[in-house]
Amino acid sequence: MPKTFETTLDTPAFKGSLSVPLGLYINGEFVDPIEGGEIDVINPANGRIITSIAAGTQADIDRAVDAAERAYKTSWGFKVPGAQRGKMLAKLAHLMKEKQSEFAALDALANGKAYNTAFSRDNSGAIAVMEYYAGWADKISGKTIEVNENKMAYTRHEPIGVVGQIIPWNVPMFSLSLKLAPALATGNTVILKPSELTPLSALLFCTLVAAAGFPPGVVNIVNGYGASAGHAIAAHPRVRKVAFTGSTLTGRKIMEAAARSNLKPVTLELGGKSPTVVFGDADVEQAVKWAIHGIYFNHGQNCSAGSRIYVQDTIYDEFLRGFTEQARAIRVGDPFATDTYQGPQVSETQFQRIMSYIASGKESGATVHLGGQRIGSEGYFMQPTIFTECTPDMKIVQEEIFGPVACLMRFGTEEEVLERANDTSYGLAAAVFTKDIDRAIRVAHALEAGTAWINCANQTEISMPFGGFKQSGIGRELGEYALENYTNVKAVHVNIGIRM
Ligand code: NAD
Repeated sequence: MPKTFETTLDTPAFKGSLSVPLGLYINGEFVDPIEGGEIDVINPANGRIITSIAAGTQADIDRAVDAAERAYKTSWGFKVPGAQRGKMLAKLAHLMKEKQSEFAALDALANGKAYNTAFSRDNSGAIAVMEYYAGWADKISGKTIEVNENKMAYTRHEPIGVVGQIIPWNVPMFSLSLKLAPALATGNTVILKPSELTPLSALLFCTLVAAAGFPPGVVNIVNGYGASAGHAIAAHPRVRKVAFTGSTLTGRKIMEAAARSNLKPVTLELGGKSPTVVFGDADVEQAVKWAIHGIYFNHGQNCSAGSRIYVQDTIYDEFLRGFTEQARAIRVGDPFATDTYQGPQVSETQFQRIMSYIASGKESGATVHLGGQRIGSEGYFMQPTIFTECTPDMKIVQEEIFGPVACLMRFGTEEEVLERANDTSYGLAAAVFTKDIDRAIRVAHALEAGTAWINCANQTEISMPFGGFKQSGIGRELGEYALENYTNVKAVHVNIGIRM
């Protein structure tokens, strides 16, 4: 019988009790892992163990696939009308709302993000995503296609069946909703693996699934390490599709495992090194504020973080002054304080990775204009950091740091900045700031990125697709586009008069 994590918090941002079952959620119940492993969940604000969760392995993924297959054949897919699937998703959103503060507290504890951000951004977003796809569930439709008088031809958008989903730790509940909601709306059954760093909110979520009306086996949530449980999902011959969010390195492994096993289709939401381009005619005050949000929101742990900031030389000094002032004013501290903007980085490993990038930047000749140091001796807190005097070949300019580290660079002409902005293997997002509408649109179209922001940055709309060009990914999440990831198109030919 799996254990339960219980605690009571009395903090400025959250006061209350938390209770989370720690087992694997398979076939509508919490179970112990077959091989009996555990993973410690660490509080990044102090480096101490919060609790230990059950760690699934191949044998547990097999069990989850059995349950998901059975559920798909007997009690899900098109057997349940879309309107009913939609009602269940809407009920789930409602139940999530009732526990929104608990979800936010669990994410603040295990991820280190400010409770207020977890509540008003991640978890509000997660609920809104469930509501949005609840609305789509009864609108999944194919087309009738005119061929000739003797044939009726139409397409059906059928569910794929058992789908596997693997998510990261940076926006735990938002990622979970982005994956689950469109898959369930279109009639698939799911095996989802949360990140081993932030598994607690997903476990609380499991307690709501049956209450929302989902039959056992439709939603299975199996925690575990990437190399075991994650790989078992990607490589499983009876998982018909895999959707992954995480690093480009892991994305490559997922695609290889999918190709080797059963050629299952993959969608990949991967890393980024997104440019922010500020022209001389921009509203500098606004551009500074957006650029700050672009890189420092969520401690720089955003796939779409605007980590390369190109500023036209006519306003470079003014921009740098404003940007430095605001970066210095960022409140770094306890995730449960009400005025915290930036908590600790998620883990010791991530923290050390960021510090090694800072060392590399210095060694390669960039200047640490601000920050660059650890804060305090406990937990993984770090100073918002600005590098100047960066050159295109530096690692800090080319590679994703996934921390609060901005590289500021000057440019002269539009042609030059486009060349430099696109000089990356990534292509997730890009921002451009200018008051010249022609230039704004011209540059937005020329930037090689799945999302282009004009006079804003780091914005997501639930109805707008999100995903990457180049090595930032394959496929799109959010909006109507995400439905394509989870349906097979069947062409049906009905003979109404052709004689052989
Ligand atoms: P990660 O790739 O290390 O891990 C992501 C998930 O994959 C985790 O659940 C992990 O356990 C699992 N995993 C690891 N190795 C695996 C393997 N061999 N097979 C199957 N699963 C495996 O990434 P992370 O550190 O958790 O997240 C940070 C990365 O995610 C960054 O690169 C960031 O840019 C990216 N990200 C992208 C988006 C997007 O929408 N494009 C959104 C959020 C995060």
